[in-house]
Amino acid sequence: MKNRIFVDYGAVAENARKIVSRSGKGLFAVVKNNAYNLGLADVTRTLLGCGVSHFAVTLSEDAVFIKERFPEAYVLQLNPARGEEARAAREMGIALSLGSGEWFREYADALGGVDLHMKINTGMNRFGFSDIREASAVVRACSARGLSLTGLYTHFALAEEADLSEHSAHVDLFAACYEALSPLRSFRYVHSENSAAVLLRDRRLSFCNFVRPGILPFGYSSREPVEWLSPSVFVSAEVIDVRPLRRGERLGYGTGFTAGRDMRVAVLPMGYGDGLMRARAVLPVYVNGASCEILGKILMSHTFIEAPDGVSVGDVAEIYGEHVKIDALASRGIANNAEQLAALHIWRYAQPERL
Ligand SMILES: *Cc1c(COP(=O)(O)O)cnc(C)c1O
Repeated sequence: MKNRIFVDYGAVAENARKIVSRSGKGLFAVVKNNAYNLGLADVTRTLLGCGVSHFAVTLSEDAVFIKERFPEAYVLQLNPARGEEARAAREMGIALSLGSGEWFREYADALGGVDLHMKINTGMNRFGFSDIREASAVVRACSARGLSLTGLYTHFALAEEADLSEHSAHVDLFAACYEALSPLRSFRYVHSENSAAVLLRDRRLSFCNFVRPGILPFGYSSREPVEWLSPSVFVSAEVIDVRPLRRGERLGYGTGFTAGRDMRVAVLPMGYGDGLMRARAVLPVYVNGASCEILGKILMSHTFIEAPDGVSVGDVAEIYGEHVKIDALASRGIANNAEQLAALHIWRYAQPERL
């Protein structure tokens, strides 16, 4: 195995426990997209093992996947259920998002016994009620029909921004919606804080009894790096070739890299086809503890690095680990750290021992 992508599920569990104790709230873990492509079954099992029992996913298939394997898990489907998905939710005990009056009118008859979480739009403009009067009418209609409207939530669009003034208005808007709707109905689950908002610890959101982060339990921050989180993803590749490159010679496709001096180049068998973001090329890799620059563009299956004396075939290059943090992508404005996590193709690799 020349490439290794290792997920430290113990770190995920430790991070989850810290999030719960620091926030003083329940954890609704967002495990959409195969748990950010770190393995839906493994991540769900890990979180259940440390006392987290609430999960949110976008797709009905993922909600069903969790309920089939872990019937004790509480699962919320974030995307509006379409067609047969409402029936699947009723049969399998999956909670559904209630994001518009239109959806409610279409599906109300099929929602008996299904837990519903009403979504408020605070500025994302993806799903959710934008009109508080319409939301109030639907809350009343749920009561009249004996439906199980148990949750109220929103998703913040701007909690990751440096300037939080607009986000702050979104917080006030959600608080005002809660004030208006909670006299009509007592909500068992009130949740809004994604990873960035968890880190902000905004006291105005103390009426929320659950936080709803995605990337945070994996040990990564969507704001500035956080010292109490433990990264859980380690990526390395083995050097498969070392060759000389003379001054003036090119490397790889095109004319992007020309050697300015005689040098040695090492080839790694990992590229963007394995999920290594091309934007990541501005950060070095580490071989035998030494920093080595990435040369030219990352190819589909290969990456070139400079090879100082001492680097040879079979050496292990750290792509992400002790020296190079996935969080550096976000904090240095290179790329989105969640995008890099989700791009890694861990299902191709067995879970080897820690690097
Ligand atoms: C993705 C998502 C989250 C989690 O986002 P992070 O930034 O990874 O914490 C929370 N809520 C909703 C609705 C989401 O789509």
